[in-house]
Amino acid sequence: MLTADHYSRLGLAGIYDKVLAGERLTLEDGARLFACPDVNAVGALAHHVRTRLTGDKAYYVLNRHVNYTNICVNGCLFCAFQKERAEQAGAFALSADEIVQKISDHGGMPFNEMHIVGGCHPALPLSFFEGVIRRVKGAFPAITVKAFTAVEIAHFAKLEGCTTLEVLTRLKEAGLRMMPGGGAEIFAPQVRERICPRKSDAQEWLRVHGEAHSLGLQTNCTMLFGHIESVEDRLDHLDRLRRQQDISGGFTCCIPLPFLTENSLLKLPVERLGEHTGLDRLKTIALCRLMLDNIPHIKAYWVMLGMKMAQAALYFGADDLDGTIVEEKIGHDAGAQSEQSMTIPGLHEMITRSGFTPVRRDAFYNPVNVNLTGADPAAVNCGADRKGGAA
Ligand code: SF4
Repeated sequence: MLTADHYSRLGLAGIYDKVLAGERLTLEDGARLFACPDVNAVGALAHHVRTRLTGDKAYYVLNRHVNYTNICVNGCLFCAFQKERAEQAGAFALSADEIVQKISDHGGMPFNEMHIVGGCHPALPLSFFEGVIRRVKGAFPAITVKAFTAVEIAHFAKLEGCTTLEVLTRLKEAGLRMMPGGGAEIFAPQVRERICPRKSDAQEWLRVHGEAHSLGLQTNCTMLFGHIESVEDRLDHLDRLRRQQDISGGFTCCIPLPFLTENSLLKLPVERLGEHTGLDRLKTIALCRLMLDNIPHIKAYWVMLGMKMAQAALYFGADDLDGTIVEEKIGHDAGAQSEQSMTIPGLHEMITRSGFTPVRRDAFYNPVNVNLTGADPAAVNCGADRKGGAA
């Protein structure tokens, strides 16, 4: 921890005192931290908070991502994953059989969580997704199904002609236990209007998460940063998440996602290209930890950050690296240079080399047995524990 004198010299003495006392930071405090050129000083405050919350633990999960379709009606400007029509080269929509089969294509790795997200397909009905979840849970009862962003939930409701609460209730009955945090992007309407005008707005996104929380479903939240948004937009976004959490309390983790420019139609003005540096990413992760005092975990998503920056982020407020993933399309279509998959020893090594203690967790951050072979009773072994037939 840097000294009080150092923060005093930076003009951050009041913020330093608040962080040490565990008091909530204001938006003005957040703006001053973003403006501080000493990234290490900001990071040290975030590290103090993450250490108070989770000690030297760094979490990871054995998970399997499945992207069921890239056909999407929304056409967000930043999205390199989406295809407009099924006839387009590279467009795909997995059948229920193929989705369930993906669980078996895990290279012998047992896992705890299945993360299912996709584009807003114009024709797939809610019954299709209920069926998928029932089949996954029937075949692998121990897997936690974490699926569908709030944007997808709102889309299902529109296609079905029912409310988002009804969609969530039906999916929960089918076996849904958790929702990922995608689709939040940046809540500020003037930014949303430019980068994702057809997508759920902030009110709808937050309402769906509040409804999920009211049903007992835990959810994650995200912030896509490093594009056309301002620092004020980032702080507004974090403030809205914090206020929603005060009301409904079901956010487990926040995942700050850096915008990857490579294959996106959203091109940044030349004068802004140099702004979104590695230091900006680390500072933003630190601000997430400092502002979101009511959300327990901050994730350094290695797919989007890259391995090295994810490791560094553990010193800037993050306490979770996500997991094995196995196959990932959205970030890699956007230009992520990271691997597709991580092994359990690989995750352990990333964490221990960074000076933290690896803790393997389930979807809800409960620790599960640590075993470098991956053979633990809490995880699903797709060979041994499989009950029914994935087609
Ligand atoms: S970000 Fe999601 S909603 Fe937007 S176009 Fe891509 S897949 Fe569709």
